[in-house]
Amino acid sequence: MKKIGVFTSGGDAPGMNAALRAVVRGCIYYGIEVYGIRYGYKGMIEGDIIPLNSHSVSNIIQRAGTVLKSARCQEFREPEGRKKAFDNLKKFGIDALIAIGGDGTFTGAKVFFEEHAIPVIGIPGTIDNDIYGTDKTIGFDTAVNTALSAVDNIRDTADSHDRVFFIEVMGRDSGYIAIQSGIGGGAEMVMVPETKTTINEVIEALQKGWSRSKTSSIVVIAEGDEEGNAFEISEKVKARVKDLKDIRVTILGHVQRGGTPTAQDRILASRLGLSAVEGLRDGKSGVMVGVINDEVTFTSFGDSITKQKPLNKDLIRMVEILSI
Ligand code: ATP
Repeated sequence: MKKIGVFTSGGDAPGMNAALRAVVRGCIYYGIEVYGIRYGYKGMIEGDIIPLNSHSVSNIIQRAGTVLKSARCQEFREPEGRKKAFDNLKKFGIDALIAIGGDGTFTGAKVFFEEHAIPVIGIPGTIDNDIYGTDKTIGFDTAVNTALSAVDNIRDTADSHDRVFFIEVMGRDSGYIAIQSGIGGGAEMVMVPETKTTINEVIEALQKGWSRSKTSSIVVIAEGDEEGNAFEISEKVKARVKDLKDIRVTILGHVQRGGTPTAQDRILASRLGLSAVEGLRDGKSGVMVGVINDEVTFTSFGDSITKQKPLNKDLIRMVEILSI
């Protein structure tokens, strides 16, 4: 293995730059040339490929987003698109890949590896933390802290006006951000896609609080909850409760994708970046690198894509007990 191509793909996540830095510096340390493929699979198809050196990744460890840029690419879903991408890699002499992204990115990498036999290792970078084979994904810790600080701010104003706030956080099919920011922010209720919470249960939790003279309440909702988005849920609650206090809805949205990566995310990203390079050197391929119980592990793309990472049910139980 002489030349590694590295790219970021899918949704960006704080810490992706730290991972890129570790990949580049790791390659240099082991005497491997490293190329950056800009805009993910799109750049691979278009030949948007640049050589990287130690200086290229100076001063980026603390920056969110991705200096390599990211994109979603329809063309890569077709064999013709992937053939173009492979031809470009050959042109540059790239003989191995490191893909930083989420499960869609790994699905693409798996297909590509199966079709063109180019060694590839994935690094999990997504704020949702919804990838099997790692305790945490890069960006998750930063996103939780961003959401938590928003919950704190909202609690200040909720309390002054005796309001009920429904706060929607990111997580299309994962309640990780919701449960952690909800517990950290002292929410009365957290709604996640992994467990069904009925509107009546939400109302009960709120009423319990009011019966103990709580003047304000916070419900944190993951965007993928099956009862709907935060507006829909608030409307359903309003429709069933008479004399309801003032209800407000806040959707945090893309603020959760930005912000200076936390120490945890930078360290995780650095560890995963270097381990990906070392994994390729050891002949590993078609796998994602992760950290489980503080140990670096490699999980097949197949498992990382298809297996569900369970949300710790004990955390859900805690919310109910601690909000009394
Ligand atoms: P996030 O979790 O933040 O959404 P992601 O990596 O899952 O990140 P996707 O948009 O799902 O983001 O996937 C990134 C890219 O991977 C897609 O734009 C596409 O180019 C490629 N990809 C996804 N699925 C496939 C597939 N089945 N075959 C080939 N390529 C795919």
